[in-house]
Amino acid sequence: MVINELLQLGVEKLGEREYLDPLLESIIILSYLQNVDKSYIYTHGDKEIPEEIVDKFLNFIEKRKKGYPLSYILKEKEFYGLDFYIEEGVLVPRPDTEILVEWIINKVNNEFKDKPLNVVELGTGSGCIALTLAYYLKNIKVFAVDIDEVALKVANINRDNLNLNDRVSFYKGDLFNGISSLQLEGKIDIIVSNPPYIPTNAIPELQIEVREYEPKKALDGGEEGLLFYKKIVPESKKYLKSGGILAFEIGYDQGIKVKKLLEKNGFKDISIIKDFQGLDRVVVGRLG
Ligand code: GLN
Repeated sequence: MVINELLQLGVEKLGEREYLDPLLESIIILSYLQNVDKSYIYTHGDKEIPEEIVDKFLNFIEKRKKGYPLSYILKEKEFYGLDFYIEEGVLVPRPDTEILVEWIINKVNNEFKDKPLNVVELGTGSGCIALTLAYYLKNIKVFAVDIDEVALKVANINRDNLNLNDRVSFYKGDLFNGISSLQLEGKIDIIVSNPPYIPTNAIPELQIEVREYEPKKALDGGEEGLLFYKKIVPESKKYLKSGGILAFEIGYDQGIKVKKLLEKNGFKDISIIKDFQGLDRVVVGRLG
């Protein structure tokens, strides 16, 4: 079978699902399997494909048709200009989270430029937030926590790939328990988290990719989705320096509730930042 025939087969098989781009996804999967650029696929339509690649391609197309995330097939996701290794068991980095990262990068560059800072990240998953911050901000040290073994394995792979071993450390544990032995109380400049925030009963309404294949542990924020904010906010006061910053990703309808939670705990300068769709996505505050 040649490239064009195989792509056509991919398009036919994927075509029944309306929100995929069947041709683009077929090209991406084939270029991954052949280890070539997409442009090679475009320009070599009559090139013969080895049978084993044909089999792998059709296997991936079948998985994808059932909603298996493309990032788990390609074992990779780009985030804020960096390539992250990804596998089943960790949340796929999302463009929404880039807003949180961008806000922190700007804040540090404007307010704390070149000052050594300690940053804590709770629930690091693939490590994309911790590692992206450390990659772009040379003055920070990051202590990142996750409770999950797969997440820590993946985060460590990404840290090695990005050569950030000297400034990012990963710890296993439940939120602040992961760093409780480090004596960081009162020494942290920034605490950041994209915790699980989907209300338990809203999980069945998520896209099939997310609800069927991404880790529930990384999504489920309890009855109202606010469980982790309620745990993190009061505890963060022990760890932050006075004037330190707490920055969260939030669900689109949680802005006001998380803002109130911060206010109740004595945080000041609270802002809610919107995502590309104009929905509330990030809440930040400063310990007064
Ligand atoms: N933004 C993710 C989603 O909508 C949820 C991530 C999270 O719970 N932190 O699928």
